[in-house]
Amino acid sequence: MSAPTTETPTSFPVHASAAPVDPARRAEILADPGFGRYFTDHMVTATWTRGTGWHDTAVVPYGPLQLDPAAAVLHYAQEVFEGMKVYRHADGGVWSFRPGANAARLARSARRLALPEVPEAMFLDAVTALVRTDEAWVPGGGESSLYLRPFMVATEAFLGVRSAHEVKFLVIASPAGSYFKGGVTPVSIWLSEDYTRAAFGGTGSAKCGGNYAASLAAQDEAHANGCDQVCFLDATERRYVEELGGMNLFFVHDDGTIVTPELTGTILEGITRSSILQLAQDLGHGVAERRVSIEEWREGVASGRITEVFACGTAAVVTPVGRLVSRDGELVHGTGTTGEVTSTIRRQLLDVQYGRAQDPHGWMRRLA
Ligand SMILES: *Cc1c(COP(=O)(O)O)cnc(C)c1O
Repeated sequence: MSAPTTETPTSFPVHASAAPVDPARRAEILADPGFGRYFTDHMVTATWTRGTGWHDTAVVPYGPLQLDPAAAVLHYAQEVFEGMKVYRHADGGVWSFRPGANAARLARSARRLALPEVPEAMFLDAVTALVRTDEAWVPGGGESSLYLRPFMVATEAFLGVRSAHEVKFLVIASPAGSYFKGGVTPVSIWLSEDYTRAAFGGTGSAKCGGNYAASLAAQDEAHANGCDQVCFLDATERRYVEELGGMNLFFVHDDGTIVTPELTGTILEGITRSSILQLAQDLGHGVAERRVSIEEWREGVASGRITEVFACGTAAVVTPVGRLVSRDGELVHGTGTTGEVTSTIRRQLLDVQYGRAQDPHGWMRRLA
């Protein structure tokens, strides 16, 4: 492996695991990791104490946390998280995609949840230290990657309701295989008409566990109706398309314009979403961020004005939407295959991430 281009972080000393997974077993896991099922040998931990700030930053063996049963996160859900991937390039190097954007979003989410901010340099050092320590866990080939989950939890043992005075920041890592094993297949979407995800002034634009907890009943309803994912509408008029439980939506129009719901404060600003807005322009598409009503979606697909719909996020990259299902019935999109624009954008984004295409916007950062 060639020499890393960034300085070795000194602020996360490594306490190496005495019992790492043996290489044969690791190879077996990396051959078919799935998603979020296996974890690497180490994790990052850091503690924040009010008045002192961040301390005890380290890479330690992966393992259970010791948490007081009164820890605030267990009762009041004071928690935020991030999701990002690192990719093995053909030359063996390990690269991350826009990690500064994850650091910035974690800081925004933390402010909304009254948690302390992790400075960008500390965030990048934490991620780099873990990736270098567990570099052997970064799979190569196909669309595999190492998924990183930085997160912050309120650990103070106190049942009074206020922002916690003790917090932990952790980063864990999990090898991920290709999201679509047998080729990209369109997903079906259930329109949630009884539940909403986020309201003005709420936590919709923060990446926090509470949003996910609130989306699970709707996700179960989607599954009960034979659908893969759930789509939420705005909480005020129940009319405008917001996003899926964990992915943003795009609509491709017959004139080549690509439209995504605008950020109103209730939608999570995906890094994949903002990257696609840029890539689409690079590819010559017009782009628009504006409100999209559910009628526009239905009528657009029926009339052919909307030619493709896709969802996007770090885990699945770009996922075509094949059907929209609601109590009123079902609307089939296209012919059950992936549309041309969706395929091109998906390919272009993956080519940048895996180092097969130019990176004109400086999105990639080498970690190891
Ligand atoms: C994380 C997330 C996304 C996608 O964000 P990416 O940065 O593209 O992974 C979209 N919606 C929600 C609710 C999310 O939590």
